[in-house]
Amino acid sequence: MISHILLEKDELILKKEKQQVVHIENMAITVTKKKVKNLNLSVHSPDGEVKLSVPHHIKNAEIQDFIKSKLSWIYKQQEKINKRVPMTPAKPPAYTTTERHYFAGKEYYFKTLDIDCFEGKSRVEISVVGEMVMFVNPWKDREYREKLMKAFYRDYLKGEIPGLIAKWEPLMGVKVEDWGVKQMKTRWGSCNVKDKRIWLNLELAKKSQDCLEYIVVHEMTHLLERKHSNRFYDLMDIFMPHWRELKNELVRLSF
Ligand SMILES: [Zn+2]
Repeated sequence: MISHILLEKDELILKKEKQQVVHIENMAITVTKKKVKNLNLSVHSPDGEVKLSVPHHIKNAEIQDFIKSKLSWIYKQQEKINKRVPMTPAKPPAYTTTERHYFAGKEYYFKTLDIDCFEGKSRVEISVVGEMVMFVNPWKDREYREKLMKAFYRDYLKGEIPGLIAKWEPLMGVKVEDWGVKQMKTRWGSCNVKDKRIWLNLELAKKSQDCLEYIVVHEMTHLLERKHSNRFYDLMDIFMPHWRELKNELVRLSF
C-alpha cells in the first residue's frame, strides 16, 4: 500500500518535470520533455518567447550548455520578431480634442486650445492637471499640428539625452562625440561607431524614461562592441541587468 502511494508521488514528480522553466541570462526558456530524438529550439512571436523540446533522458547540464551555445541565435530571432512590430500607430492621429496621446510612458487626455488669442506661440504643454494641451489656431491643419507635436517630443528628448549620455560615459568608459534625434521606421536607435555618433528614434518620447535610457545604453554599448555578439549581450547584462524587461516593454506597449 505504501509503495503504491510512493509510486503515485513519483509519477507526479515526473509529470511536473515534463515542463520546466530554465532561466539563463535573465531569459526564461520553457523546456518540455518529449518523445523526440533531438533538441528543438524555437522563438515565438509576438513576445519572442523561447521554447525548447528535449528527449526524456537528457541531463539538465546538457540543456543549459545547449541553450548557452544558442544564445546569439535566440537574440537574433527575437530581434527579427521585434522588427515586425510597427513603431508608429497604424492610424495617424488627427490631433483633435478627445484623442489619447502618449508621453514619457504615460497616456494623456489630449485637447486643443482652439482660440486665436492664447499667449505666446503655438505649442504643446502638459497642463497642471495632467492633460496634454495643444495651443494652436483653429484653422491650422493636421500636418501643422503633427509638426507641433513632433517639436514637443523632440524638445523633450533633447532635454533628456545629454544627461543620460553624461551618466553612462564614465560608467561604460566610452565617449559619445555626437548624438541626434530623428524619426525612424524600423529601429529605436542606431550607432555610427566610427564617428561615435548615436541616433535616437523620436518615437522614444512616448516611452518611459527607463526605456529611453535602455536604448541610449544599447547604442553606447556598440561603441565597445559593434555587432550583436555574445560579448555585446554580456556587456548589456553588466551595465543594465534588467534590459530584457525594458526591451519587452518597448515592444509590448506599441503606441
Ligand atoms: Zn544594436
